[in-house]
Amino acid sequence: MTFPESLLTGYGQYVEKGFVRYKETHEHLAIYGQEPKAMVISCCDSRVTPEGIFHAGPGELFVLRNVANLVPPFEETNGQHGTSAAIEYAVTALNVNHIVVMGHAKCGGVQAFRENANAPALKGDFIGRWIKLLEPAAISMACMPVDKLDDPQLAMEYAGVRQSLKNLMTFPFVSKFVEAGELAIHGAWFDIGSGELRVMDPSTQTFEVANAAVASK
Ligand SMILES: [Zn+2]
Repeated sequence: MTFPESLLTGYGQYVEKGFVRYKETHEHLAIYGQEPKAMVISCCDSRVTPEGIFHAGPGELFVLRNVANLVPPFEETNGQHGTSAAIEYAVTALNVNHIVVMGHAKCGGVQAFRENANAPALKGDFIGRWIKLLEPAAISMACMPVDKLDDPQLAMEYAGVRQSLKNLMTFPFVSKFVEAGELAIHGAWFDIGSGELRVMDPSTQTFEVANAAVASK
């Protein structure tokens, strides 16, 4: 099979419009390297694009995407921890000031976890084991239901973000920078259909509609 035509067409448009728009930024980034201030951990879901949602150009966001926007807890086993490696790089090498874990509506990973063994996605080798990271979230949700449970999918999506924030703090370098006031971690959730962003209030653990800061120009 040849390289997808739609991607080549998209690349053509990028060269004409996107790259030209950011030409100087690209040149600067190529010479001086990247200095993103924020890391966003988002789902692989094609409907949730962090750079699009936050209107960010090249060099502005350090983005990690995985199934169901999960952060595993810190562990020192010999596994190949792709998510943990990205977090380590963002915090210890790039010194980002913010990490945002962004969940989203209609998350297939969360849905597969909720459907348990009956979910077709869980028949493979990897997804089932990966989304087991949601187990503690399900337990804490059952013990302390801060969300109304009339929408169990939404409640689980929120709980997954909370659990990932908890897991983030198990990384020694994350907790060290957070305690030093040099790093803040945040929860967020994106509604695909309406484009609404909700941000977690750290004191109540509830998700509130974000106030968009409108640019003055
Ligand atoms: Zn998802």
